[in-house]
Amino acid sequence: MQSFSNPVGGGTLWFHNLLTAEGTPVAYDPQARAFLPTPPFCVNRDVIGCNWIAPEQGAFCRSCAMTALAPDLDIPDVIPNWAETEAAKRWVIDNLGRWHWFRPEDPGTRPVFHMLADGYTLAPMGHGEGIVTISVSEADPVVRVTRKEALKEPYRTMIGHMRHEIAHMLWWRLSLREDFLAAFREMFGDERADYGAALEQHYIQGPPQDWELFYLTSYASAHPHEDWAETTAHLLHLTDITDSFIATGLLTPEMPSHRWDPYAEPDTKVLVNVAANLVMRVNHVNRSMGLSDIYPFVLSEAAHRKLAFVHDWLRRGAQGR
Ligand SMILES: [Zn+2]
Ligand SMILES: [Zn+2]
Repeated sequence: MQSFSNPVGGGTLWFHNLLTAEGTPVAYDPQARAFLPTPPFCVNRDVIGCNWIAPEQGAFCRSCAMTALAPDLDIPDVIPNWAETEAAKRWVIDNLGRWHWFRPEDPGTRPVFHMLADGYTLAPMGHGEGIVTISVSEADPVVRVTRKEALKEPYRTMIGHMRHEIAHMLWWRLSLREDFLAAFREMFGDERADYGAALEQHYIQGPPQDWELFYLTSYASAHPHEDWAETTAHLLHLTDITDSFIATGLLTPEMPSHRWDPYAEPDTKVLVNVAANLVMRVNHVNRSMGLSDIYPFVLSEAAHRKLAFVHDWLRRGAQGR
């Protein structure tokens, strides 16, 4: 994520800011990728702290307009969880916009979000036919860490969920093209394999012993759809960590230049080489505060090939070329 200049004074604004350091209300314009001091602000600003501009007074911003179903606000603590979920969504939608997804120049379908909370039943997560369903209850750290430990996952965050579930939607968008499916099946396998049976087998038997040679995460080994979603989420993680690092003025020796834009880089080898060296260093920095590694994964040869495939399709997919 880039950092932004203050439209009414000095200093830097960060993507989630609602106010400048002096207290002036500001809003993010996702089309201009800049902060503005003037309304119309999104109507969800006072509800969930959405800091995007709206097309007109009383309207939703581009991101909130994609949420067709908001959680039941009678469920305790739901508003802060929903707010955090929408913040993760805005971040990922803006990331994908760097490759033109879901912006005006993209003629394709936008995702529709169903934001659900655990009530009498547990809220699901998933994707079907362009609808992305997210459990906002996962924004609660106790819920999330409990599930992370139960599933023995090294990483579980709202932004990770958002990238994974939107990745399924991106697959669906790409599958509407004639040239995608054959190439996909060659790289990831046949996604027509029984999905329910594959997931059941994964949860009963666990991943194959040598999964790390072929997959980024153990869950990716469950089915080609999950392999695609995990790989796509990881491409977004790696590209965005790198972009954020550069936005703060930091450099690493592997970067092609100090004005390099990782989202504009066409060569996946260059991008992933920079990112892999960078996360190794930032992992070391995080350990100095006793924090988890920012990127607790190892990239195999197969992972590099799959990341290149996803990178290629995400870069050209949005514009129907
Ligand atoms: Zn909004
Ligand atoms: Zn999935």
